[in-house]
Amino acid sequence: MLTIDGASGEGGGQILRTSLALSLHTGEPFRAVRIRAGRKKPGLLRQHLACVEAAAAISGARVEGARLGSLELGFHPGRVRAGEYAFSVGHGAGSTTLILQSVLSALALAEGPSRLTLEGGTHNPFAPPFDFLARTFLPLLARLGPRVEVSLERPGFYPAGGGRLRVAIEPAKQLAPLELVAERGALRRRQARALSARLPERELARLAERLGLKASELVAQELDPRAGPGNALCLELESEALCEVLCAFGERGKPAEAVADEVAAAALRYLASGAPVGECLCDQLLLPLALAGRGALRTLAPSSHTRTNLEVIARFLPLRVREQALGADDVLLELERC
Ligand code: ATP
Repeated sequence: MLTIDGASGEGGGQILRTSLALSLHTGEPFRAVRIRAGRKKPGLLRQHLACVEAAAAISGARVEGARLGSLELGFHPGRVRAGEYAFSVGHGAGSTTLILQSVLSALALAEGPSRLTLEGGTHNPFAPPFDFLARTFLPLLARLGPRVEVSLERPGFYPAGGGRLRVAIEPAKQLAPLELVAERGALRRRQARALSARLPERELARLAERLGLKASELVAQELDPRAGPGNALCLELESEALCEVLCAFGERGKPAEAVADEVAAAALRYLASGAPVGECLCDQLLLPLALAGRGALRTLAPSSHTRTNLEVIARFLPLRVREQALGADDVLLELERC
């Protein structure tokens, strides 16, 4: 049984989610210790528990220590069963997309199709927003084989939550390797979309000014005020290689301009590099690449989050990783299972 140190490297919830995903895939049980030990609120929070519960539900796993605040967890997976599942983060805006992160790779390689209903936050800080999932991550996953469709029934923002996603998964027998090693190439399309119950135009105006976007590239999506004060600003940058979606999130007391400036800074960094793969996308593609057995990405410089994720993956699936700097913020990352 593997012991995973939840406080190593970045020490975040990703260590747990990647461990759940790979335990489901390999059938290898694990014991996580010091879960999020360095965080302000250490241990399992509701959103992490929701991930554990989802991984247990699809595999009939035996679980020890799945309690709020727990610093240790034992997870003994059973056989993964495709099917219809509904998972909810419960009260608040824990992220639905992070629940999906824990179970997607297992269901994408399961024996039959699955349908999921996920309730909670859909546009959360520190989690993949729905738009990134739908337009960046899942189209790339389709190149590896599995076809996954997501629809946003209702957005959910921090802190109120209350969003709902539906996911339809057509699995593949195995994953094909992915190589995204060419330069990003020319941009084909740019679109900034602000989802907000209040003044989405202010975020869009600032982003347009910072990035020189035209009026035809801006979409204001005004939401029902019952969605709460939260909002999201997402910029889609479609190039020859892929479509990157860069998002930032509003909250009470944060000026619309600050939200736009975060997206602008991420976009300027991305555009200054020739690499097609952004920082979060790199982080999230590592797992499917490792499951495929090999792959290569040309990416912005990997974050410490990405490096921690690689270390966790290598605990379950021994990996050979080669990293070659192609420019100041442009790295070729090659992965191969040993
Ligand atoms: P903790 O609460 O312990 O800090 P966590 O459970 O919130 O951790 P992280 O370890 O921070 O989780 O992982 C967040 C995940 O969300 C990573 O997979 C990261 O790539 C992804 N992510 C964060 N922000 C974005 C974004 N703007 N776009 C796409 N993906 C994102």
